[in-house]
Amino acid sequence: MAAQVVIRARRAVVDGAEQSVAVSVADGRIVAVDPYDTVVPGADVIELSDDEVLLPGLVDAHVHVNEPGRTEWEGFASATRAAAAGGVTTIIDMPLNSIPPTVSVAALEEKRAVARDQAYVDVGFWGGAVPGNLPDLRPLHEAGVFGFKCFLLHSGVDEFPHLSAGELREALAETATFDALVIVHAEDEQTIESSPQPHGQGYAGFLGSRPKEAEERAIAEVIDATRETGGRAHILHLSDADAIPLIATAQAEGLRVSVETCPHYLTLDAEEIPDGATQFKCCPPIREHDNQDRLWAGLEDGVIRTIVSDHSPCTEELKRFDSGDFGEAWGGIAGLQLGLPAIWTEARERGHSLVDVVRWMGEGPADQVGLTDRGRIAVGSPADLVVFAPDESFTVDVAALRHKNPVSAYAGRTLTGAVRQTWLHGIPVDIDADPRGRLLTRGQS
Ligand SMILES: [Zn+2]
Repeated sequence: MAAQVVIRARRAVVDGAEQSVAVSVADGRIVAVDPYDTVVPGADVIELSDDEVLLPGLVDAHVHVNEPGRTEWEGFASATRAAAAGGVTTIIDMPLNSIPPTVSVAALEEKRAVARDQAYVDVGFWGGAVPGNLPDLRPLHEAGVFGFKCFLLHSGVDEFPHLSAGELREALAETATFDALVIVHAEDEQTIESSPQPHGQGYAGFLGSRPKEAEERAIAEVIDATRETGGRAHILHLSDADAIPLIATAQAEGLRVSVETCPHYLTLDAEEIPDGATQFKCCPPIREHDNQDRLWAGLEDGVIRTIVSDHSPCTEELKRFDSGDFGEAWGGIAGLQLGLPAIWTEARERGHSLVDVVRWMGEGPADQVGLTDRGRIAVGSPADLVVFAPDESFTVDVAALRHKNPVSAYAGRTLTGAVRQTWLHGIPVDIDADPRGRLLTRGQS
């Protein structure tokens, strides 16, 4: 097909390397990736500046949109505007904290109906596995969810109850019959119940209430269940680096166990969290600096393949800034818009390239959810692209962020790497115009 637009970039991340390219786009897809100087007759030419790098649109497989039901926490319009502003062109929405949670086909249809006309980027949906909805899993799979989330301890909201060890096995055995992915919030209930309860303004008290052993025990449980059932499991938001060897061993054994981590675990230190600063509260918690170093090593070794935001916002009120009490505040970090610059700032310090960042935040999450033509600049892929200025620094102004409530763990931090433009299906996203995002179904693109 004849190209309608050609984007010429001296620097672009293509095929696992930085290259000088001319990317041809027609009808929303990439139709050619040629050397920079290639002349493409009849096409409009867009030339990136010398300080810009062309990246593929990123894929964030862990976003809590919360609409309908808790739309005051976050909604599809605000979340997807934040995504676009942050260079993320595909999000997969978590099955909780919306009401209803996405635990039946009827609930999925309700969420799709609400999302349809509000999505500034493409949106897919995870289903949920909760006690009693085993018969709903296959119909949800056939309706196009990307897999099933479950918890092994209280989820934080009563309408999304957690699975027992036996129910986890049932869910893995059932989903193995149609080869679906089960994604697990892996913290062990008993370990946390027998730990000191969090209270007061000190971060150390909160950290002590969610010990590393809770992650290790739960992850060991997931690995055992995967071995027994032949299921496919993914560990969400790994914070505890001591669990990496467990996962590496399971992967070496051939078990289908993958793992993600998040920008806040990779860039923020427990030691630096001020008293009462509940914008840093999330579960599992942000841990100490030496732990963070070892999470990076897990990425470098390839045990951890994906970095996703776990964007989980709430209202300012629920963060309890009045008391600053870590026991009372809602846990969750709203990082959708800042994941790329936060990770790039730290990755670069540690000697990593944009190629690594794209692998962790683009290709990796895309492959995890089976959207294997996303997160990369390649012929046939959607023309979802990001114009990124890797040397431009900025200081995070919470009021300027696009998610709904002005709360951010990155407030006031200076980050390097600015998203100057995000393209969705061959056209720059205009977050003040009508939305053009599509709703995604597993297996399609
Ligand atoms: Zn989450």
